[in-house]
Formats: sequence, C-alpha cells, structure tokens
Amino acid sequence: MTSVLQAQALGRKYGKRWALRECTLDIPAGHVVGLVGPNGAGKTTLLKLASGQLEPTAGGITVLGGRPGNTPAQLAKVGFVAQDTPVYAGLTVAEHLRLGARLNLRWDAAMARERIERLGLDPSQRAGRLSGGQRAQLALTLGLAKRPDLLILDEPVSSLDPLARREFLQGLMEATVEHRFSVVLSSHLVSDLERVCDFLIVLVDSRVQVAGDVEELLDTHHRLTGARRDP
Ligand code: ATP
Repeated sequence: MTSVLQAQALGRKYGKRWALRECTLDIPAGHVVGLVGPNGAGKTTLLKLASGQLEPTAGGITVLGGRPGNTPAQLAKVGFVAQDTPVYAGLTVAEHLRLGARLNLRWDAAMARERIERLGLDPSQRAGRLSGGQRAQLALTLGLAKRPDLLILDEPVSSLDPLARREFLQGLMEATVEHRFSVVLSSHLVSDLERVCDFLIVLVDSRVQVAGDVEELLDTHHRLTGARRDP
C-alpha cells in the first residue's frame, strides 16, 4: 500500500538552527494523522516539507509516493490549509469558491456550494466579516473541494472557541468518512486530536518523540500516568 507520508532522516534548518531533525516516518495511506507538539516544536516545518513549500536540508520525504510539489499532478493530490491566513479577508465567500474553481484541476463545485449552504454561510459575505469558526469552516470547505488525496491542516482549531473547535473537527471527521482521503492535522493539544485521528506523531524540540496508533499510544500514556481515559 502507498504511504501517505514517508520520511527518511528528514531535516530542515533555518540559518544555523535545526527546526526539524532526524525525522523518520512511514505512515500508510488512508489514516487521519495527528501531529502534536508545543510551540516551536517543528510542526509547521514538517507540514510545509510535506506540501512542497519547503525543501529539506537533510534526508528525504515522499508524499503519496511522489516528491512533494514536484509536478502539477502531485500538487493536485495535496491540499494545504494554512495556519494564519487560510482565506482572503477582502474576498466574499462566493469569490473564494470561484477562485478555487479556476485554480484547481479537480474542483468539486457542487460539494463546495452544498457545504456552504449547510453551514448557513452567506455567499455575499466578505471573509473578513465572518467569525473565526466560520472562516475556519470556509477554509475547510475550500480544502475539501479540491478533492485531494491528502489534506494537510496546520493548527486549524488553535484559535477557535470550544464550540467552534468541536464543530470543525466533527465536520472534518464526517468528510473523511464520506470522501475517504488521508489527513494530517496539527495541534498543540492532544485532546483536539484523539477523537479525530487514528495515528499520532508527537514532536518535541524538533524531533519525533513517538509515532503510532492513537489507541495504543493513549493506552500506554494512561497506564504509565494512572490517568483515566474518557469513555
Ligand atoms: P507553532 O505551534 O508555534 O506554530 P511549530 O511547532 O509549528 O510552532 P515551527 O513553526 O515549525 O514550529 O518552528 C520550528 C522552529 O523553527 C521554531 O524555533 C521557529 O522559531 C523556527 N522557525 C520557523 N520558521 C522560521 C523561519 N522562517 N526563519 C527562522 N526560524 C524559523
């Protein structure tokens, strides 16, 4: 089976400092992968390497069997929802959909329209006037409408309130069941990821500390700490 993400001694430096080092991973496609770690751990760096926005300083990475961002076909396979500015404040919801349709080879216009309608978003509203939760949902809709084989989301819920967090993660979960694509999403908080993800990568201080099946990792964690798991 093709790996969604395969990294071999992958590293990236900014100037003299390593932001990510000695990262070796092999994750089968079809997983919803959570990437958790504190501020500055290297999460965005790994996600940018996976989406071809950064080149490695050391080692190598393949995503869905190809080099990230290497060809138009490879680019079309991977959607990326950025952390800070996933949408354009000055464009309306409808303009975002039209732009998406012009820029993306596999754009699913009907799905994007239906999702916007279901969310109750006004197509004529400028993105800058939407709430944080609505902006995040618009960004997710744009990512889904690309019909990627892999959708990468960089801390999509970190700035949202608890209700908007839950709604976003629920929407993402439903979409993965319906459309069957791989997902990698990052967060500072394991609680954001444990219900959505089935594979977890823990990144601390630019290194992968542990990576594996979520259930197994959480069981080990709870056994070692004596903490009870939520039912
Ligand atoms: P956060 O949760 O705060 O977004 P992160 O886990 O995503 O953090 P990265 O953004 O990948 O971490 O950053 C890893 C390290 O690399 C940090 O020490 C950061 O300051 C540094 N870094 C990131 N981008 C650059 C850059 N363009 N130039 C120099 N250093 C950078």
